Amino acid sequence: MKNCIETADAHFIRTYNRFPIVLDHGEGVYLYDDKGKKYLDFAAGIAVFALGYGNKEYNDALKNQIDKLLHTSNLFYNEPSADAALKICEASGMDRVFFTNSGTEAVEGALKLARRYFYNKKGTNDGEIIAMNKSFHGRSTGSLAVTGQPKYQEAFRPLMGGIKFADFNDIDSVRSLINDNTCAIIFETIQGEGGIYSADESFIKEIRKICDEKDILLILDEIQCGMGRSGYMFAYQAYGIKPDIITCAKALGCGVPVGCFAAAGKAAEAMVPGDHGSTYGGNPFVCTAVSKVFEIFEKEDIVGHVKEVGDYLFEKLEELKNESDSIVSHRGKGLMQGLEFNRPVGDIIKAAQKEGLIIISAGANIIRFVPPLVIERSHVDEMTAILKKCMN
Ligand SMILES: *Cc1c(COP(=O)(O)O)cnc(C)c1O
Repeated sequence: MKNCIETADAHFIRTYNRFPIVLDHGEGVYLYDDKGKKYLDFAAGIAVFALGYGNKEYNDALKNQIDKLLHTSNLFYNEPSADAALKICEASGMDRVFFTNSGTEAVEGALKLARRYFYNKKGTNDGEIIAMNKSFHGRSTGSLAVTGQPKYQEAFRPLMGGIKFADFNDIDSVRSLINDNTCAIIFETIQGEGGIYSADESFIKEIRKICDEKDILLILDEIQCGMGRSGYMFAYQAYGIKPDIITCAKALGCGVPVGCFAAAGKAAEAMVPGDHGSTYGGNPFVCTAVSKVFEIFEKEDIVGHVKEVGDYLFEKLEELKNESDSIVSHRGKGLMQGLEFNRPVGDIIKAAQKEGLIIISAGANIIRFVPPLVIERSHVDEMTAILKKCMN
């Protein structure tokens, strides 16, 4: 192979604008490129690598499982997937789990489950799902149908039907769409790609109440904000409410491709054998990772650590905001925060890369901070020092 970038650009279908950096390996919260240049990582592979790079306990568990058994299909049982499902249910308050290979598949499954629940109840196929403007739920055609960003949808219509869009945190806009055919309401507890917007407490509690009254399923997409990132294991736990269905992925396996949808109560019993499937879904390899992730989270009190270092990050970003005229807003919780600028942030992101810092955007004007959950205060200081330099 001549050159990695040339070869990739010549052979990948062109769906991404990539940065001209070839990443080679990682260590802790740092990444290294093929020339040995070191980067402080405040993106974590888009909110995936919660434990950082090279966690020995995690790596050893995966290496052992590779030698033992990688894959079985779902026609048989295996220990790692049973254990991973138990741990997800214990941590989330859900009753049953279905494992997928990605976030978008988790959302697809959640939508199918909601449709199945409605069909069981009414015997008709005219159930409607309410989703939010500016949301992001994935790129396959079902999850894209509930993604409230027309620019991602336009060329790929017709998408799944029966979807209506309300405004996030606007309870009246949701109410005005509800009718006897409403089968589910789906949103991200904290919107990620859309720009780091948290659900208001009054909004999420009111939605829960409406869903209870009308037997509508509340689906919370915790793919980005879940797994400790908000300072709670799952972001909805901050509000004292419980959804009927959750979706999870990204940090669930901390680097191996795994996601899930999980359901509680009656929703957990709605599907029957034959309704859904996945050849790889929840194989022993990825579920060893999931189990290990939960084990390490508990042992090292990762969630408590996120609360503490997240508060520190909040303080530091507030300081930056107060010092700079170009920052118009600062939002977020735990280690999922955003700074909104009065201009596109592409140049800041590129300048930061030159200075050895990886940050990403969420929309044109917003820098999104989703570092590994194991960062320390000193890494926050290192990040803000570089960012300051790159903002001017
Ligand atoms: C990333 C993301 C998805 C899609 O996950 P993939 O693994 O990329 O398919 C869905 N919902 C939310 C909230 C996400 O952040």
